[in-house]
Amino acid sequence: MKCTLILFGILVSMTINWTECLKLAEPCIPTVCKLPNCKCSTIESGSGIPTSKIPQIVLLTFDDATTGQTYGKFSEALFNRKNPDGCPIAATHFLSHEYTDYTLVHDLWLKGHEVALHSITHAPIQDYWLKINLTTFKAEFDDMRQIVMHFAGIPKSDIRGARLPFLQTSGNISFQGLKELGLVYDSSMPTIRYVDNPLWPYTLEYASHQDCMIEPCPTASFPNVWEVPMTMWLDEKNVSCSMVDACTNIPKQAEPLSKWIIKQFERHYNNSRAPFPVFMHAAWFLRSDEYFKAYKLFIDHLVRLPDVYLVTVNKAIEWVKNPKSLDVKKPFGECEVRKPTFDCFPRTCKLTGIDGNERWMSSCVKTCPDRYPWIHNPLGK
Ligand SMILES: [Zn+2]
Repeated sequence: MKCTLILFGILVSMTINWTECLKLAEPCIPTVCKLPNCKCSTIESGSGIPTSKIPQIVLLTFDDATTGQTYGKFSEALFNRKNPDGCPIAATHFLSHEYTDYTLVHDLWLKGHEVALHSITHAPIQDYWLKINLTTFKAEFDDMRQIVMHFAGIPKSDIRGARLPFLQTSGNISFQGLKELGLVYDSSMPTIRYVDNPLWPYTLEYASHQDCMIEPCPTASFPNVWEVPMTMWLDEKNVSCSMVDACTNIPKQAEPLSKWIIKQFERHYNNSRAPFPVFMHAAWFLRSDEYFKAYKLFIDHLVRLPDVYLVTVNKAIEWVKNPKSLDVKKPFGECEVRKPTFDCFPRTCKLTGIDGNERWMSSCVKTCPDRYPWIHNPLGK
């Protein structure tokens, strides 16, 4: 990439490493960086609303494929439950492509859940994500977005966030990629520094105070790109875990396990009320019935609290941008009613994956693709 520089008063074009062209993020000054489009990385909501009047947001997210098995768990734990404003509770699904059933994704979206991106290949090599170039990075996420739009019938404007496989960003390259794709947020960066005083979501226009647990982290300025920190949990031996499935020293029975989850929640609820992350893979439910029971007990506990809202990551960012106190009847606005952009005709196709093995792909599209949709050929032409 060419950079235009001014050297000794002369305009020159040079071919250098393009990441060096990016503007470095400067220290954040709250009086300059203001809501709704800029927020410093702080432990305050920035809303000016007293803590007791801040709705406690809970973010339920799930990574990887949505399958019949995981959908069954979502249905049992989450469907037909309401927030205090009478709107349905909702989760965010960071989707990867293989084994995903797009008819179920369509259904989740219709029910108000958020569908976000977790790459198309989910390549199982951490180094791939670390060393990825901008073009491939954009293809991983843009092609996955096209798949979701085409095979699950979800409008582009509803696909707004991303999480990197293995939480491995490539620093500025990843964030430049997200910005160029018009995505609104990332949620890939764990923090241990802010466990007791959790950070609120913030923008990456200015330098972040968040600790960099998985290097590299962004150093350039990315206006309007939000970071939703992965505030870690602590297991019973005080070992930190960025996703629930990674917490190992935990009770094995549903009742004490749900109490342990509530303890994590209360670090947020009894503090600044920064959004509480419940980030996991639905495969965790399949490890033990007790785990799934504990999760349901936890959700039961939350929906009984009058000031707790289980909303999508996108809704949480919208709230931070335009905060409303609990004194308002609907602090998250009117309940969203989603109408399908097309009729979903469920169809299951037998295709061949890139490994040469068969892949069954269910989607809302009547005609089967010629090939298994993949990076650089998302519609399977
Ligand atoms: Zn994953």
